[in-house]
Amino acid sequence: MDIIHEGKVKRVFQEPDSPERVIIEFTDTVTAGDGKKRQVIEGKGELACRMSEYLFGYLEGKGIDTHYVKPLSGARLLCRKVAIYPIEVVCRNIAAGSFCRRYGLERGEPLRRPLVEFFVKDDSLHDPLIAKDSIILLGLLEEDVLQFMKSVTLSANYYLTELFRQQELTLVDFKLEFGSTKDGHVVLADELSGDTMRVWDNDSTSVDKDVFREDKGDLIEAYTQLVDSLKMTRPEDVSLRPETVKVIVDPKGGIKNPPGEVTKKALVRLGFSDVEEVRVGKIFKIQLKRPLTSEILNQLRMMSVKLLSNPISEKHEVSLD
Ligand code: UDP
Repeated sequence: MDIIHEGKVKRVFQEPDSPERVIIEFTDTVTAGDGKKRQVIEGKGELACRMSEYLFGYLEGKGIDTHYVKPLSGARLLCRKVAIYPIEVVCRNIAAGSFCRRYGLERGEPLRRPLVEFFVKDDSLHDPLIAKDSIILLGLLEEDVLQFMKSVTLSANYYLTELFRQQELTLVDFKLEFGSTKDGHVVLADELSGDTMRVWDNDSTSVDKDVFREDKGDLIEAYTQLVDSLKMTRPEDVSLRPETVKVIVDPKGGIKNPPGEVTKKALVRLGFSDVEEVRVGKIFKIQLKRPLTSEILNQLRMMSVKLLSNPISEKHEVSLD
């Protein structure tokens, strides 16, 4: 089999019979601290593979598109072939790891709401944190792809948190990667395992890669506990999260906007003399029946053109924030 990519802990092969499929092999290598700490731990690959298989399958069941197709023997998964975006997305519920180091916080401080952060996927730069505006300015992602990734990350956080909660485990944080399929769909990719998330049991003991990072015990024991816990969960008990998106309809400049003119006159009459011009637009808040996918995003764009806005006099924007 032709190898397409060899990462620090996974190898990606071309599936010989299907150009749009790849085989991802999880190795027993475990790394931390930018690859400075590295060890081969027999059985780790298989456990990370089983976690990814379970969690991707679970998220697919909740309507989130992923690259996962089916399990293969050994530590391997059959996946859709994607072009990976150069941005890693981290979601945090509780302060830990680099977040504590960066801001001088205590490990374990709960965050008021889930936080989504973006990092550049580039080992030579040590995966730096990057602001959303910088991502757009540097052309690393299109704005709608960025918004979509954030929205899917928050959905995934909801579903994963609920799943772990069933086993009295806490999802502290996790990292996601996204890829684009040949037909342009943005899907979750890479892996979802103890290697890429922090999970604590109810006395805040790590059952994830921190066991290795911080020499806190037996990684295989921790990963086996995670896999066993996942097997005992009931995905059907986690109900679908209602998702709301916004379509913002914005009147174009240079075209008459009668409601705006009326409002301006009224404001000036009330003494707000600094008002030069008012344009009145619309916001549609749309609640979806299922999690947002690239396909639904395309449908929202079509709705905006066909019904929600008048493309001659108005601009529209699908907002997922
Ligand atoms: N993470 C990852 N790969 C990376 C960086 C982080 O999978 O290259 C995961 C990590 O396991 C944790 C979350 O993303 O669950 C947040 O990691 P953090 O930024 O705190 O960095 P770390 O402490 O791992 O250096």
